[in-house]
Amino acid sequence: MVEAFAVASGKGGTGKTTSTLALGMALAEDYDVTVIDADTGMANLLFHAGLDDADVTLHDLLVDERDAAVSDAVYERFGMSVVPCGTSLAAFEAADPGRLRDVVAELAADADVLLLDSPAALGSKSAVLPVVLADRIVVVLQPTVPSLSDGLKVQEYAHSYGTDTAGVVFNRVRPDENVDKIAEQAGRYFGGQTLASVPESDAVRAARREGKPLLAHAPEDPAADAFREAAARLDVRD
Ligand code: ADP
Ligand code: MG
Repeated sequence: MVEAFAVASGKGGTGKTTSTLALGMALAEDYDVTVIDADTGMANLLFHAGLDDADVTLHDLLVDERDAAVSDAVYERFGMSVVPCGTSLAAFEAADPGRLRDVVAELAADADVLLLDSPAALGSKSAVLPVVLADRIVVVLQPTVPSLSDGLKVQEYAHSYGTDTAGVVFNRVRPDENVDKIAEQAGRYFGGQTLASVPESDAVRAARREGKPLLAHAPEDPAADAFREAAARLDVRD
């Protein structure tokens, strides 16, 4: 049975898109993984996955008069099925976010794991739906109290819709930062689990510039190791 994860956070720029692709590649070693850019307003997964030229994207699947089949927006990349979203504001405005539910259901038929790269913040239907549709959320945070506070709100929202917490990925951790204390606080509040502490890494930035997920660009980088550890800790249900 498929398990759907929303990769979420309170604020933008915490590393959700980076994490979605890294976790996806790590899980693709054992599972059929489909990654969906469900950040339909500020989509940028396409840039991280070398899909800037994708012809058909998620936006084309969310319009009322749909010409495209779901499979038209699925690209086989890096051992995963990737559904990018376009970057046009007009296409975002023309999209009906409520249609995401049916698209996700159709994609679920061919996957063991769905990863939904989610928008930051709450508020609009398009922002919250990925969290609502997922079985569990992965919360990507900086190891700071404000970031933790933001993440807690996302979790509270998720739980109110019956979505559980898989755990927290602390990202962009600097060598002088000790995440133990904040991880202990997160453990108390986030279903007990720190999935990984991912270091700040030049390889992550370089990967994005190359249009490749970190695990394709620099599989030996310590940040890649941390993401593989996080993927293993997800304990995906069989
Ligand atoms: P989000 O999807 O949450 O907005 P991104 O994954 O797009 O965040 O990351 C935001 C920026 O931070 C990107 O430029 C990315 O390359 C950079 N970044 C993310 N994680 C790391 C990291 N561990 N080390 C260095 N740069 C990172
Ligand atoms: Mg993003």
